[in-house]
Amino acid sequence: MAGYYGDKMVALIEELSRLPGIGSKSAQRLAFHIISMPVEKVEHLANTLVAAKKHINYCEKCCTITDDKLCPICKDSNRANGQIMVVEDPRDMAAYEKTKEFKGLYHILHGAISPMMGVGPSDIKIKELLERIQKEAIEEVIIATNPNIEGEATAMYISKLLKPLGIKITRIAHGVPVGGDLEYVDEITLTRALEGRREM
Ligand SMILES: [Zn+2]
Repeated sequence: MAGYYGDKMVALIEELSRLPGIGSKSAQRLAFHIISMPVEKVEHLANTLVAAKKHINYCEKCCTITDDKLCPICKDSNRANGQIMVVEDPRDMAAYEKTKEFKGLYHILHGAISPMMGVGPSDIKIKELLERIQKEAIEEVIIATNPNIEGEATAMYISKLLKPLGIKITRIAHGVPVGGDLEYVDEITLTRALEGRREM
């Protein structure tokens, strides 16, 4: 390919094709699009990528991604209603926020326990959850990990860990398809799953 396009273009296509979900055809299409853009637009894109990487960090409370110390939800004093919903990923939080049904706070684990993949409790944000519960006035922890083996194992682990603290622990109902990914579930199903939660 270098013979046709030159090294710079090949390098651009190669970098793009390393991104998830981008095959070599998509990478070529993106590369041709980028070189057809005005140079200021390309600079803006490059700067946006670098700024996102440099300035996005985890919220000090809920561990979601934010560019401030606290995310907008943790900053909002109206949200501290005694409920914390535990999810695996910031995108799951976004999915629940879209339903506008949940008025409490979140905690983002950034993964799930998976002995098969070598992911243990200390590899996800469980310690941070425990620390929060000891500091904040929490009455109920709603576990909304994905309804698959890893999500269930994580829910069980958290439930056992928190039980001695005397907090109500609930698990969202199985309106969510088994083996499913919360991120892709529609808003009505997510709302029903929250409403139908059961004590663990
Ligand atoms: Zn937060």
